[in-house]
Amino acid sequence: MMPDVSPWREPVPAAGTMGEPRGRGRFGEYGGQYAPESLVEACREVDEAFREARADPGFRGALAELLALHAGRPTPLTPARRLSQELGVRLYLKREDLTHTGSHKINNVLGQALLAARMGRRRLIAETGAGQHGVATATAAALLGLEATVFMGERDIERQALNVVRMRMLGAEVIPVTTGSRTLKDATSEAMRHWVGVTGDSHYCVGSVIGPDPYPWMVREFQRVIGDEARAQCAAELRTGVPDHVVACVGGGSNAAGTFAGFADTSARFVGVEAEGGAGAARGRPGVLHGCRSLFLQDDDGQIVEAHSIAAGLDYPGVGPEHAHLRDLGRARYVTVTDEEAVAAAVRLARTEGIVPALESAHALAWVIRAAGGGELPAGSTVLMTLSGRGDKDISTLKELV
Ligand SMILES: *Cc1c(COP(=O)(O)O)cnc(C)c1O
Repeated sequence: MMPDVSPWREPVPAAGTMGEPRGRGRFGEYGGQYAPESLVEACREVDEAFREARADPGFRGALAELLALHAGRPTPLTPARRLSQELGVRLYLKREDLTHTGSHKINNVLGQALLAARMGRRRLIAETGAGQHGVATATAAALLGLEATVFMGERDIERQALNVVRMRMLGAEVIPVTTGSRTLKDATSEAMRHWVGVTGDSHYCVGSVIGPDPYPWMVREFQRVIGDEARAQCAAELRTGVPDHVVACVGGGSNAAGTFAGFADTSARFVGVEAEGGAGAARGRPGVLHGCRSLFLQDDDGQIVEAHSIAAGLDYPGVGPEHAHLRDLGRARYVTVTDEEAVAAAVRLARTEGIVPALESAHALAWVIRAAGGGELPAGSTVLMTLSGRGDKDISTLKELV
């Protein structure tokens, strides 16, 4: 038994958490399928195909092979030795930054691209913010001989020029979105609108645990490879076999959900770390956006408020419905970190461990640093943190700051 030295609620029993959603994609009072009739039918086809595929050893084997030979899995679990010594905790990093294309996005995208090919679709549609999901989608499309159309806000196209070039290099069409705040929320709306007219030949490859059923749990299932691998690696590495805390950053919440899923039946305490300006789980209110009911940042009239974060991947005003449910249950806790804390954490990881993290991932580390200093993480605690991506894409942001 783990000593109960933390003021947090005890994790609820595993039964019923992080399994299949109920009904039409319900996680407690969240989730569902709020979509026009034509998309409801398209989602039903995706759901049916996904259920068939995951039960098919042929599909699972083909995906495992792509993940191994193309994406570079399994990724290592790296003990952060020097930083751990400074913090007085034992920190282990799950290295999604070492995957092909540089973030965990590739895990989900290879799964969905393989599914799309199985469904006879010839084109992938995707939304992207920082461009990581767009690059992963363009990569998977090229690999499987599919076309890719990526919707990206005009402002993000300016901020993430490098990833735009990568997508075009890979043969994808990048469509600038000029509506609203010209960022991720608008790109997602535009991609969904576009899908309505082309559901027969195109698959919408959603990039996080958001959207109408079955996307939130399908994406979590494709990302659970992070948690499953980490679970086996912790079993080999840790005396108790399970870390005291499991920590990940949360934009829509896919790297966190995939990580948590591997430890759902354990006593590990889950912490989701959001950007101060994109704290859907920590500060959002129930609402409906992009096909599901979840927690979103809203003004007093219920209008969705724009998110702001130095990390483009956390620049989303909501969170996936399963995180909203885990928050209500007390199974996971959601905390926020400022831009300044994230940059300081990125610099510290670079200089103690020789790893330049994505600014998204640096949010998770910033909480670990703060919690170790403030006693929330007792001395000697074991912490598993998912390092969701590498920092190359953030160099133009960082060059002004370091
Ligand atoms: C997209 C992205 C995120 C945020 O997405 P989640 O769905 O919350 O995981 C985090 N880190 C990196 C490196 C990303 O590219």
